[in-house]
Amino acid sequence: MHKLNPHRTIEELKELRSLTGDENGAQRVAFTQTWADARAWLQRKAESLGAEVHRDEAGNLWITLQGESPKALLIGGHIDSVPNGGWLDGCLNTLAGLEILRRIDSQYNGKPPVTVRLVDWADEEGARFGKSLFGSSACSGNLDLNEARGLKDKEGMSLPNALQARGINFDELMNCGRELRNAAAYLELHIEQGPVLLDLGLPLGAVLGTFGVERHAITFRGQAAHSGSTPMDKRKDAFLAAAKMSPEIYRIAERNGGVCTIGSCLTRPGIVTSVVEECRVTLDQRHLDGDALTRMLTEAREASERFAQEGNVMVSWERLWQIEPIPFDNDLIALCEESIAETCGTTHRLPSGPLHDAAEVARAGVPTVMMFVQSLQGISHNKIEDTKEEHLEMAVSAFDRLASKAMEWIASR
Ligand SMILES: [Zn+2]
Repeated sequence: MHKLNPHRTIEELKELRSLTGDENGAQRVAFTQTWADARAWLQRKAESLGAEVHRDEAGNLWITLQGESPKALLIGGHIDSVPNGGWLDGCLNTLAGLEILRRIDSQYNGKPPVTVRLVDWADEEGARFGKSLFGSSACSGNLDLNEARGLKDKEGMSLPNALQARGINFDELMNCGRELRNAAAYLELHIEQGPVLLDLGLPLGAVLGTFGVERHAITFRGQAAHSGSTPMDKRKDAFLAAAKMSPEIYRIAERNGGVCTIGSCLTRPGIVTSVVEECRVTLDQRHLDGDALTRMLTEAREASERFAQEGNVMVSWERLWQIEPIPFDNDLIALCEESIAETCGTTHRLPSGPLHDAAEVARAGVPTVMMFVQSLQGISHNKIEDTKEEHLEMAVSAFDRLASKAMEWIASR
């Protein structure tokens, strides 16, 4: 019987790094020649396995082992990287998936009980056009075509033209949705890109879902006045109201078990001798639970109005962006935990701060789960991104167990 070879995944990760990286890190930015080279390398490996390989209308690469049942287990990853990226983000998922396909192909002589498919999503990172989850959102039906049509890179090249150069027709993108027709479960392995597992000393964790996000600009408006001649009790100080509100907003996030960031603060007139007339701060709030996120937002609005009234200034809110929380499938989360416990003893459940392709697949209604492996330094999108090799091997083993369990789960439904 064919045995899984997790060490081969590490060797292939290093091979990919030497083919498509330089002294500054990974350079597989989507739709560039280096990305196409990485794809061709992956495709050759998949074809030597005897799998059916094709590219869909959005440029996602599908590697299929046709099973006795058309119901399909999907394993996803992305071989594209940010410029000067790390050696694991995205391609760990893809190459672990390839190794699992090899094991399944050999175990079932090319005909597993359910269909098993590896998908390499196109442009997960959005590094060039500022639009992440491109291929997976086309597949889920959530890609905003009007927005995508207008996107340009730094050189002024439009997204539709860049796609055309890679043989992808913008007007046919959304047809790729049919790839999900028989999808019965979706699995994605990823490096954590944060410090939670590292701080707990655990190699692996089961991911509960991705955070919902509320992103707003809050503007306080008061009155500019001379910093010397205006008595303190006569001032309408927009900055002071924003400043007093800020610790309250952080307390609200803490109380509700979410996270928040005031990431920018702009003042006008912004000179040393004037009371601030206008102060604009941005607020990013995140939570895994939709009701809790709504509560955080409501309480933050109330706080802003209270401090505005106290300071005799006006306040207004403007929504910049929003996405609902995307919870993963409870059955698959349980199977993911089992697989981790069988591989390394201890497991942990955690939410994902960043969005991933898995969120798009879950939004399309496919039962989904992700597994995280510890990140050293909790750092990603940087050439110093790293994970211990023993943890990478554990990740491939645990993820393989999860694939087996998910196949049984699909067959039993
Ligand atoms: Zn990624």
